[in-house]
Amino acid sequence: MTDLIEDTLGVLNGQLRGRVSRPGDDRYSAATAIWAKPVGPMPRMVVHCQAPQDIQLAIAAARSAGLSLSVRGGGHDWTGRALCDGLVLDLSEMRDVVVSADRRSARISGSARASDVVATTDPLGLAAVTGTCSTVGMAGLTLGGGYGPLIGRCGLALDNLLAADVVLADGRIVTAERGREEDLFWALRGGGGNFGVVTTMRIRLHEIPNVVFGTLVYPFSEAKTVLQRLADATRSMPDELTVQVSAVVRPDGTPMILLMPTWCGVQDQGGSHIAPLLELGTLLSNTVGTVRYGTSISVLDAHIVNGQRAFVDTCSLPALDEAGIDVLVEAMARAESAGCKIITHEFRGAATRVPVKATAFGLRRDHVMIEIIASWSDRSDLSEERRHQQWVRDTRRAFDTLALPGGYPSLLGGDDMDRAAEGYGPNIERLVRIKQLYDPDNVFCSAIPLPTGQRAVASK
Ligand SMILES: Cc1cc2nc3c(=O)[nH]c(=O)nc-3n(C[C@H](O)[C@H](O)[C@H](O)COP(=O)(O)OP(=O)(O)OC[C@H]3O[C@@H](n4cnc5c(N)ncnc54)[C@H](O)[C@@H]3O)c2cc1C
Repeated sequence: MTDLIEDTLGVLNGQLRGRVSRPGDDRYSAATAIWAKPVGPMPRMVVHCQAPQDIQLAIAAARSAGLSLSVRGGGHDWTGRALCDGLVLDLSEMRDVVVSADRRSARISGSARASDVVATTDPLGLAAVTGTCSTVGMAGLTLGGGYGPLIGRCGLALDNLLAADVVLADGRIVTAERGREEDLFWALRGGGGNFGVVTTMRIRLHEIPNVVFGTLVYPFSEAKTVLQRLADATRSMPDELTVQVSAVVRPDGTPMILLMPTWCGVQDQGGSHIAPLLELGTLLSNTVGTVRYGTSISVLDAHIVNGQRAFVDTCSLPALDEAGIDVLVEAMARAESAGCKIITHEFRGAATRVPVKATAFGLRRDHVMIEIIASWSDRSDLSEERRHQQWVRDTRRAFDTLALPGGYPSLLGGDDMDRAAEGYGPNIERLVRIKQLYDPDNVFCSAIPLPTGQRAVASK
């Protein structure tokens, strides 16, 4: 069997003329270096794709050799879905962004990061719906959901997906959009990378020349009051204003509360809407000002450390009310290290006005998605790993009685299939049917886990 794999990969290497790398090559190291340090077996080979035809060839080779397959976009999935022990389709060189003549949409390649998009759209006074960090891959973000600072006005990233060109498991290339491959188009919007490799997406753009954005720092000793006052203020906030809460720990061990408001409405109205957020407690620092949208989503980039070990869990609360605030504050008070964080993502406004069955994304009611993150050094001992993972688990369990069923599938680990299924709500059955139609052999098994009943193609 090893000979078959080597023969197949040798043929592929010849067909792709040097766009294949193996352990020990610099390009292999770059492609397998993802946000969270990978654990477990590393890929045999990485195919550095430049065009849909490379992807077709690589899928056919992996299938004929019985190798597992994964897709590497922006490399920010914390569970390492970008990697597998077989063949990785690295799309890193496919990052083009082209704005349409009417400025209403952009065609972006399969591995464009949010940073690539804003580099093109910012100078035009336009914005696409992204997440809160500029380094994340747009396809990975959009296919799984895409909570971000524009959610109240523009919806999830996936609500702004207009069309996708996809290489399917059987090698066909199709375009999914309204009126064409409707089932696939529906499933791509929430079902992650389960259905094929997206080589190009057409996404909606919005006229947003600037945003009013900043970071407000409050002391942890006032966390409960500040967050309760924020919860009260949130009830009457317009769709154009979102506020992300980050509970973090400074290197000296002191936790603190950061609020990051983004106003994406008429510029000169932003100040008055954000003003009440400056009076929630003893404000230690305030950077609110008018900036390009791209500047606002790059602020967190400086704080993101790549290549650390990480463990993440998530749940969704109807609102961050008093009981949820108590859980958050108590969890941060017993944080293991500066690697422990709790981050909130709001879901309201335009995102809630999309009918739940219109896309595969399963939770359309108002809610707050909670991200519980622990990261620690790769050089740490096993006990540090266990303590950090336990902190994440305990924190998520403490939210359990308050949480809605399931969780954000994009952030759930591979062993959380049941919660992912619950997260799809009334859409899970249709999603599974479409998976069986487009990928009956589960070639794209290294994606958000779906209860397909199919076994993954095992690597030999
Ligand atoms: C620092 C950080 C910040 C984040 N912020 C947010 C946020 O604000 N909002 C939010 O909703 N989520 C956020 N996430 C989660 C993130 O959206 C998901 O992990 C997403 O899958 C990452 O996409 P990627 O392309 O960067 O990752 P990768 O690890 O490269 O890809 C993950 C998986 O997505 C699929 N995929 C990626 N590209 C393609 C493609 N072209 N075709 C088919 N399948 C593809 C594949 O299954 C792939 O294995 C964040 C994650 C991190 C680490």
